[in-house]
Amino acid sequence: MPTGLGEFGRIREFFAPLAGPGGLGLIDDAALVDCPAGHRLVVTADAIVAGVHFLPDDPPDLVARKLLRVNLSDIAAMGARPLYYLLTTALPTAWDDDWVARFAHGLAEDQRQFGVALIGGDSVATGGPAVLSLTALGEIESGKEIRRSGALPGDVVWVSGTIGDAFLGLAALRGAYAALVPEQRAYLIDRYRLPQPRVALGPALAGIARAMLDVSDGLLADLGHICDASRVAARVAAPALPLSDAAAASGEERARLASGGDDYELLFTAPPAATERINRLSASLALPMTAIGTIEHGSGVRLVDAEGNEIAVAAAGYRHF
Ligand SMILES: [Mg+2]
Repeated sequence: MPTGLGEFGRIREFFAPLAGPGGLGLIDDAALVDCPAGHRLVVTADAIVAGVHFLPDDPPDLVARKLLRVNLSDIAAMGARPLYYLLTTALPTAWDDDWVARFAHGLAEDQRQFGVALIGGDSVATGGPAVLSLTALGEIESGKEIRRSGALPGDVVWVSGTIGDAFLGLAALRGAYAALVPEQRAYLIDRYRLPQPRVALGPALAGIARAMLDVSDGLLADLGHICDASRVAARVAAPALPLSDAAAASGEERARLASGGDDYELLFTAPPAATERINRLSASLALPMTAIGTIEHGSGVRLVDAEGNEIAVAAAGYRHF
């Protein structure tokens, strides 16, 4: 393993091999990005800080992959297809080339999996904690973008996959839920460390979903964002919330699982007439999609039990590592 490469050495050694055609081998001052006529670029950015959003001793490849994936999730949440990303790192000088090599290895792994490429960024040294910032670019046909503001009363509320796993995974990492069997603990921790951005589902929902976002703050809080933007209310049936076997085995209350963050599932609304198309899409993608509630006139989000009685929900999940 090379040591003491310095900024330019690290770029040449670890990041230039990740560069896509528009990145020009990372030797020019800026990247060149094509955008086909009739399409728009979709751009999003996310930054994470050591000790706040990840731990300095977290596996670097997983830190990289999660950072990339949360951005790919945001691209998917607009109904767009991911293309490229830029990466800026501010690292303490004590973080050695080996950490950067393993970080870049994680990026390479996910570039292959998701068909995206690095096109630029910056790397600086810092006396403070490590800060990693990633900007992702995607594309979408003009007018096909799915925003948060399109929900209408009468829409069905849907969510992909299962919810609450990442919240439980973080707690399990900290020693909670000790009664779970090792396979279930490992599953939940993996769901926390390595979210699955729904990159195939997002674009497939163009023309079907009226409003969409990805669940990062917690299902109920994020549905609240859709309701605010769309000026509507929502009612969610707690028994309908899709849970993994491990989440069900945790015994945690559904209200808590619907308030925990980091699911990175897609939450969207669609008219009832779209139900059959959504079920077919679910089957073709081999990804569960569950109708969990309805959009109504008014404001706010209510969680109800099987009898329709409102369930009190504590404050939405906190931001965690
Ligand atoms: Mg988002």
